[in-house]
Amino acid sequence: MFTVRVRDRGSRARAGTLHLAHGEVATPAFVPLATRGAVKTLEPRDVAGLGYEMVLGNTFHLMLAPGPELIAELGGLHEMMRWPAPIITDSGGFQVFSMGHGGVADEIKGRRGPQASADSSGSILAVEEQGVRFRSYLDGGERFLGPETSMAVQAALSSDIALVLDECTPFHVTRDYTARSMERTHRWLTRCLDWHEREGPAGQRVYGIVQGGIEPDLRAASTQEVAASRCDGIAIGGSLGQDKPQMRAVVDWTTAELERVAPSRPRHLLGIGEIDDLIEGVRRGIDTFDCAMPTRLGRHGMALVPDPGRRWRIDLHKPRFRRDREPIMAACRCPACAQGFSRAYLHYLLRARELTGLRLVTLHNLSFVARVMSDLRAAIERERFDEVAAQLHAGAAPGAATRSTS
Ligand SMILES: [Zn+2]
Repeated sequence: MFTVRVRDRGSRARAGTLHLAHGEVATPAFVPLATRGAVKTLEPRDVAGLGYEMVLGNTFHLMLAPGPELIAELGGLHEMMRWPAPIITDSGGFQVFSMGHGGVADEIKGRRGPQASADSSGSILAVEEQGVRFRSYLDGGERFLGPETSMAVQAALSSDIALVLDECTPFHVTRDYTARSMERTHRWLTRCLDWHEREGPAGQRVYGIVQGGIEPDLRAASTQEVAASRCDGIAIGGSLGQDKPQMRAVVDWTTAELERVAPSRPRHLLGIGEIDDLIEGVRRGIDTFDCAMPTRLGRHGMALVPDPGRRWRIDLHKPRFRRDREPIMAACRCPACAQGFSRAYLHYLLRARELTGLRLVTLHNLSFVARVMSDLRAAIERERFDEVAAQLHAGAAPGAATRSTS
C-alpha cells in the first residue's frame, strides 16, 4: 500500500505514494480535517483544487450525527460528502478522552483538566477494559465507544484508512498511568485488528497507534508492539510533551525505532500541523499529518504568511489592516489572493462575520500548507531537503522555495 520512492541521505525524510482504495496520495502530505463530513466552508472541488488528495473524517462526531447507519444508507462517507478521493478516519478516542482530561491541544494552549476542550461539553462516565462510556454532547444520552464499536463505525463510513482505538493520554498524568494506559491501548489494538480481519471492508487499511507519552522506554516498547502487529501503517499519538523541543524528541525516538522495526510502513503524526512542525516532522520521517490548525486559524481570522517570527500568521482582525489594499500574501496563487481580495476587505468581512471572509482565509491557509508540503516533496525528490527546509524556516514563501533552487 505504500511505496517509498526517495529517501533523503541526510535525514529520515522520504517521498513516496500511498496506494489506497480511492486513489493515491503523494507523501509527505498534510491531510485537512473534514471533521463532520465537510472541510469547513469549502466544497470537495475547492479542497482538491488546492492540491489535497486525502481528508480526515472524525469518527466521534460522525457516530453521534448523522450516525453510522444513516451514512452507510447514504452510500458511505465518500458518497455522502461527494469526495471521491481517499479518506482517513480517526478512532474517536481523541475526542472522547479530551472530555475526560483535556486534549493535547488544550495543553499546548495551557488549558488543563476536565472540560478543558472547547469542542466538547459531554463527559466521560467510565474508562473500562471493554471501552469508554460517555455522555453525548448532543443530547446528554449515554454512549459507548470500544475497539469493536470504533472499527464498526469506521467500516460503515468506508474510509480508506481506519485508526485503531487508543487512549489518548495527556501530558499531566503519572508515568504509571501512562504505562497502564499504553498496555490497554495495545490490547485494544489486537481487538481492533481481530474485528477488522473478520468484518472490516475489503480495501480498508488499518493504522495502529504508538502511545507511551514522553517516556523514551515506553515509546520504544509501544513502537515495537505496534510494529509487530498486523497493522498496515503506524500513527504516533498521545502526549507529545509540553513544548516543541519535547514534541520533536518524542517523534524522533519513535521514527528512529520505526526505521529499525518497520521501515517500509507509512507513518502518520496525529494532530500536528504548524509550519515549522511540518518541516521538522518530515525531516524525522513522517509521511502524513492532520491538524485543525490551518482551517481553525482561518475561522479565527488568522492568515498564514511566510513570517516565522510571528509563527507564520497575521491576525486580520487587527485595526492596522483596515485600509491595507494588499492581498494576504504577495504573489500568492491561492484563490483568495489570486483574485485580489485585499486585507482591508477581509478585515471588514471577518469583523462583520460574513461567511465569505472565513471561506477566503481558509482557502488561503490550506493553499499555503499545501505548497509547503509540495515544496518539501519536491525537495526530497531533488535531494535538496536540507536546503529547502532551511529556506522555509527562514521565511521563504512556499512555492518560491523550490523555484529558487531549481
Ligand atoms: Zn493567498
